[in-house]
Amino acid sequence: MTDFQKNKDLVFEQVAQATKAANRSQESVKIIAVTKYVDSGVAARLIDTGIEHIGENRVDMFLDKYEALKDKNLTWHLIGTLQRRKVKNVINYVDYFHALDSVKLAAEIQKRAEHPIKCFLQVNISEEESKHGFKVSEIDEALAEISDFDKVEIVGLMTMAPKNASESEIDDIFGKADKLRQELQARQLAHMPFTELSMGMSGDFPIAIRNGATFVRIGSSFFK
Ligand SMILES: *Cc1c(COP(=O)(O)O)cnc(C)c1O
Repeated sequence: MTDFQKNKDLVFEQVAQATKAANRSQESVKIIAVTKYVDSGVAARLIDTGIEHIGENRVDMFLDKYEALKDKNLTWHLIGTLQRRKVKNVINYVDYFHALDSVKLAAEIQKRAEHPIKCFLQVNISEEESKHGFKVSEIDEALAEISDFDKVEIVGLMTMAPKNASESEIDDIFGKADKLRQELQARQLAHMPFTELSMGMSGDFPIAIRNGATFVRIGSSFFK
């Protein structure tokens, strides 16, 4: 039987320790509980231990959880790939969308959103073929086009380390993501504050926090 309170306390303690070790303030790192492994009934048991941020990677699962848990005072994160044809079903329930990976998707969000949507530009730092996201070399052109879309608020960057990367490779990728985020923040672009950095999962969140992550997306550690 999963002890949700114990798992929650352990994850939050490990995040707190990594944050302290990085000389960062505790409020600067927010924990998103990724509930994609469980149904809404099980998710509710975790949420009730004191979760504020919930994340789902698929639109259908997001909508199921939203319907069941919308009264729980949560901040809602859609963290996975979003197909353009599904934008209209979901985007107005999303507080943060973490996987903006094309200009066409941004255009669809602009068309369907009833208010500005906080989005993370997904960046493929390692340029792994299998990963979604903009290559670093594509970002300037993408931002120039997205600048017309006032309902697409780019709050920051999201990235993932390649599977099977070593700790030093992950450290390098996360470090580059933070450096890029800082460069983009310094440009002071309209509706693109670039203050946030979404990176770090169960296997690598301490490395992400050391490199400036402001949102970590943690799933499996809560459901052991
Ligand atoms: C599943 C998922 C996570 C959480 O991964 P865990 O290894 O289970 O912590 C984070 N981000 C995305 C985009 C995911 O799909």
